[in-house]
Amino acid sequence: MSGSELLDRVSGAQGREIFEPATGELLGLAPQHTIDDLERAVAQAGSAQPAWDALGHADRSARLLRIADRIDDWAEPLARLLAREQGKPLNGPNARFEVGACSAWLRATAATVLDEEVIEDGAQVSTLTYRPIGIVAAVGPWNWPLMISIWQIAPSLRMGNAVVVKPSEFTPLSVLALISLMNEDLPPGVLTALSGDRDLGARLVSHPAVRKVMFTGSTATGRKIVEASGANLARLTLELGGNDAGIVLPDADPEKIAQDLFWGAFINTGQTCAALKRLYVHESRHDQVVEALAAIAAKMPMGPSLAEESVLGPVQNAMQFGIVAGLVEDARERGATIVTGGAPATELGPLFYPITLVTGLHDGDPLVDEEQFGPVLPIIAYTEVDDAVASANRLDVGLGASVWGSDEQRTRAVADRLEAGTVWINSHGGVNPMVPFGGVKGSGYGLEFGVEGLKSVAVPKIVTRASS
Ligand code: NAD
Repeated sequence: MSGSELLDRVSGAQGREIFEPATGELLGLAPQHTIDDLERAVAQAGSAQPAWDALGHADRSARLLRIADRIDDWAEPLARLLAREQGKPLNGPNARFEVGACSAWLRATAATVLDEEVIEDGAQVSTLTYRPIGIVAAVGPWNWPLMISIWQIAPSLRMGNAVVVKPSEFTPLSVLALISLMNEDLPPGVLTALSGDRDLGARLVSHPAVRKVMFTGSTATGRKIVEASGANLARLTLELGGNDAGIVLPDADPEKIAQDLFWGAFINTGQTCAALKRLYVHESRHDQVVEALAAIAAKMPMGPSLAEESVLGPVQNAMQFGIVAGLVEDARERGATIVTGGAPATELGPLFYPITLVTGLHDGDPLVDEEQFGPVLPIIAYTEVDDAVASANRLDVGLGASVWGSDEQRTRAVADRLEAGTVWINSHGGVNPMVPFGGVKGSGYGLEFGVEGLKSVAVPKIVTRASS
């Protein structure tokens, strides 16, 4: 199976043209769903949800497991379609990895149990259970379109909700293919995907029948969704932008940590919310870390998405490419040193930008303060650990952060001072379906994954009985 059979399912005779980032070729046409389609999807979701709830947890979990098996059966065509549409290569922590994460998350979500809590005080007994919210709107970005959709959909379905999904307008086809496969094991109306642009997303999240919005995307859009929730009072889980800092302590071994630093920053060619986006390195280790990262960058093949040897791919779209290239140009004009990369890799295609390591920048410079979301990493030397911690904490975002060093107590003490939803020690960006994940400050609020993730797509209900 090559991926074209899935493409044939979802690409229409007319609609929005979707181009392959790696080649610039037309991949297919994504349907442009209308407001009428939206109204129909929401009405069907409302009709289907009570019976879906009534099925119970065991039955719903069994369906999630069947869906996981189906995704495994279709893993290669899905990965190929994803690679062509999103741009990420098949190998490395990319398309095949992303599809594998989808089935892994479905299985973990099916296995997670949210127990009722009993609170007794002698005079009364109260039971706290979690009921479905109703209709969940799931709005996602273009960087990990399948995995993030599953992160939003799996717990929502598990808890008995119906879901209407609005994928990014840059990557609708792979998400539509995923939803089409999922629907083979679901009752009609429980899960619908609507393909369209930001206006359709805005209409969906503000719909009066939507009770919960799972949103992953930029902080700017997150703010608009908060405003919209003033009308329908939808509960929100907001996974927004980040500008994750890493701090390399003086006792870190540059050679030992370089590979993990590299992938912490450049997973998905840097287009990852919780990737390392600013690296603060103690002055005594700075040059060694830069050299070790440059040596790894020189050996990592960047190339066409479907080439088996590629592990780094293009920037997904021209808008993001412009942001990345502009931030590097600005850094150059400020006198920064471009250690490696620094100019578009036009020989590979119009959206390829090489791994670019930049030194000599300071806090306040745009490449340090703004989210680059691409294959560029500023590396900043520091003298005092307190200053590095202050630098890491000074921005109004806090998705992830990391500390790198060999002393357990010291790394932990620094980790405790960092303002982020997750702080990794000697790694960056790894997520686990049983471990809660979410941001602080401008990176959003609400938790995904594990028991906390189930609670966030449910409403608590308390039943209190007087003790006899
Ligand atoms: P974006 O905010 O531009 O778009 C995300 C989605 O929101 C798209 O589907 C879009 O159509 C939709 N949308 C746009 N305006 C809307 C509105 N007013 N109401 C409802 N929906 C609307 O983000 P993007 O460019 O696709 O993604 C990149 C950003 O996402 C980066 O900042 C990145 O850090 C962040 N991100 C965060 C996480 C996380 O888990 N925190 C994960 C991936 C990406």
